[in-house]
Amino acid sequence: MPIRLLSSEVASQIAAGEVIERPASVVKELAENSLDAGARTLTISIAEAGRGLIETADDGRGIPAAEMELAVSRHATSKLARAEDLFHISTLGFRGEALASIGSVSRMTVTSRAAGADSGARLRVEGGISGKVEKVGAPIGTVVRVEDLFYNVPARLKFLKTDVTERRAIDHLVTRYALAYPYVRFKLADGNNVTLQTAGDGDRRAILAALFGVETAKQMLEVLAEEEDLQLSGFISPTSLTRSNRKEITFFINGRWVQDTALNAALMQAYHTLLMVGRYPLTTLFLNLAPEEVDVNVHPAKAEVRFKNQDRVFSFVQRAVRRALLAYAPVPSIPPATLWGGAARSSAPREVGLDWTMASQAEGGEPSAVDSASGQAGSSVVDRPPSTFNFPLLRLIGQVGAAYLIAEGPDGLYLIDQHAAHERVLFEKLMAQYNMKNIPSQALLSPAVVHLPPAQAKLLEEQLGTLQGFGFDVESFGANAFQVRAMPDLFRGSDPSAALRALVEDFEEDEAPLQSVVEARLAGRVCKRLAVKAGRALTLEEQRALLTDLEACESPRTCPHGRPTMIHLSVDMLERQFGRKGAR
Ligand code: ADP
Ligand code: MG
Repeated sequence: MPIRLLSSEVASQIAAGEVIERPASVVKELAENSLDAGARTLTISIAEAGRGLIETADDGRGIPAAEMELAVSRHATSKLARAEDLFHISTLGFRGEALASIGSVSRMTVTSRAAGADSGARLRVEGGISGKVEKVGAPIGTVVRVEDLFYNVPARLKFLKTDVTERRAIDHLVTRYALAYPYVRFKLADGNNVTLQTAGDGDRRAILAALFGVETAKQMLEVLAEEEDLQLSGFISPTSLTRSNRKEITFFINGRWVQDTALNAALMQAYHTLLMVGRYPLTTLFLNLAPEEVDVNVHPAKAEVRFKNQDRVFSFVQRAVRRALLAYAPVPSIPPATLWGGAARSSAPREVGLDWTMASQAEGGEPSAVDSASGQAGSSVVDRPPSTFNFPLLRLIGQVGAAYLIAEGPDGLYLIDQHAAHERVLFEKLMAQYNMKNIPSQALLSPAVVHLPPAQAKLLEEQLGTLQGFGFDVESFGANAFQVRAMPDLFRGSDPSAALRALVEDFEEDEAPLQSVVEARLAGRVCKRLAVKAGRALTLEEQRALLTDLEACESPRTCPHGRPTMIHLSVDMLERQFGRKGAR
């Protein structure tokens, strides 16, 4: 075939393919246009999961009759004039492509009346062919009606998923936008069935409840952080609330919903060691930064962005989320103030045999024994808001099954898994030493040579530097072989070959792990090997020390692999179980 120019119809269908993939993409583009037009109310109606009909009606500034034809043409936009403008875009749209694309793969009718105009205008586009602009009566704002999506692109239709899936994609999108724009009244209706309606009063929690259900919404933690021009707000789930996939992780950047791998990674790093492997949080986070700091022109559907300074954004998000997570303490259910009856308790004599200690995470993670007799500690306990308590006040009772410690806390009984708890303690110590580049190491009397399978050898090769940081002195020693000359002190007496093999297993898990994740994993691995196993009886001193060490941890409630270190049986629950309460 000779080379020839594509007809404009074919060209625009090709272009539309990039932007309009499924009914939800239409909803996204139309909703973005309404938001750009300053709408306070946005009503979206669909039928047949968007295949039959998608209609958006807004009360935005409208399109002047004289610009109607342009509005549906490709590369026609009111949001961008010069190339330089591309680098400080503050609208959601700017490509001037959405209406043209939608019009080329459906039967579309745009009806609009601009603020200040005394009548409205209507224009119909069918399969990319525009009709004439008609004068009509209409309220100020814009209604876009999209019927028979993909009627002229049967191949696209075949790629659509079931109605349930397509409708869910629309629901998902609209609820997220409703959350991002809490001052806009959103309504989503499927036929006569209103599936979402927001008040537009700015109350994000209420929208969250519509999104996840009241119970879940209540548990979500609020994030609010600011640093220079960076601002992060929104909601994240506590570590007890997770999903098996990333679908509930949502990021908005400057009001735009984007998928960004770096932001996802920052988020996961903030949760690192707090979630079990393969579990993901639920989050809706809104990042705002100067428009110049982010390039939004890197993806046809504007779903990805590029940051000028990715590291800065990454570490900001990671820190902000981590802080919000750590400020939250699910285990203690009543504040110590209640427990001790406030000031009265501070003058009470210390009870013999009680060993109340607490972690004062707010003071840098050092445990401080609370000596109630001094009167001083009592008040400092009362002063601190309960949310900073990372750990309940525990009185050790003993060990059971050579695996668990039993302790009494402010509200019932606590069972502590000695292995998981010890892992957590070792992990935080090791990471602290590692971060200070201060891991004590011991030279082996005779260096050991370890042979590894080629794939593992290659991975180990890449991580020799990291291992060094952990106190290993390991060198390549011919093909797929390594020589171990020194090991961390903690490993004293272990078999070098077994230790190295155990560590390398970890390198296999992730496709492209971040260095800090590799480090944390490595440390987790070390600790798993070294932590006291279940089945070992601990002396009373060892039990005490373990509790005290655990209290000093930044994240005492989970082991580095995300399993819980403790289980809580509340007084309330015990009472119910013994039939003292509730069930007659
Ligand atoms: P873009 O949003 O990238 O500018 P679109 O094809 O989505 O491109 O829209 C083209 C133009 O039509 C917009 O720039 C805007 O001026 C106008 N427009 C589209 N939808 C609306 C609306 N709901 N309200 C007001 N103006 C609109
Ligand atoms: Mg647009």
